[in-house]
Amino acid sequence: MKERTLSIIKPDGVSRDLIGEVIRRLEAADLKITAMKMIKMTKEQAKGFYRVHEGKPFYESVTRFMSSGPCVVMVLEGEDVIKRYRKLMGATNYKEAEPGTIRREFATDIEKNVVHGSDSQENALFEINYFFSELEIA
Ligand code: GDP
Repeated sequence: MKERTLSIIKPDGVSRDLIGEVIRRLEAADLKITAMKMIKMTKEQAKGFYRVHEGKPFYESVTRFMSSGPCVVMVLEGEDVIKRYRKLMGATNYKEAEPGTIRREFATDIEKNVVHGSDSQENALFEINYFFSELEIA
């Protein structure tokens, strides 16, 4: 099924000059980019984005991290793209991620794991609408 998902190159990925590397991997895997921009979230905006994690012990820390510097946000589109992109990213904890995945290769911490990807169609819709209007999606 043709789907959309939201991808973020997190502040650690941007500051470590991994934008090109992540995009190269997306293109090599035939995950089509249909929208892209660089943003810097406020703490409040990061809290809104990660509202599903409100109350969890890492909520404060991850929202501080996500608002600590610029991020690249992208919409990806294609068949089964949510699952395909999650596979390319690897598990949340990079130590458990499959070899060759973005997180296994580049993450330095369970929090500083370089990339975000929506985990369901419902979350993808919320996350895409959080950053993009329909006019900005090619
Ligand atoms: P994801 O969908 O694989 O990104 O994982 P989650 O939705 O569970 O968590 C969202 C983000 O919060 C992760 O990508 C990490 O950046 C961060 N995170 C998750 N678990 C932990 C944790 O136990 N400690 C800390 N500090 N951050 C975490």
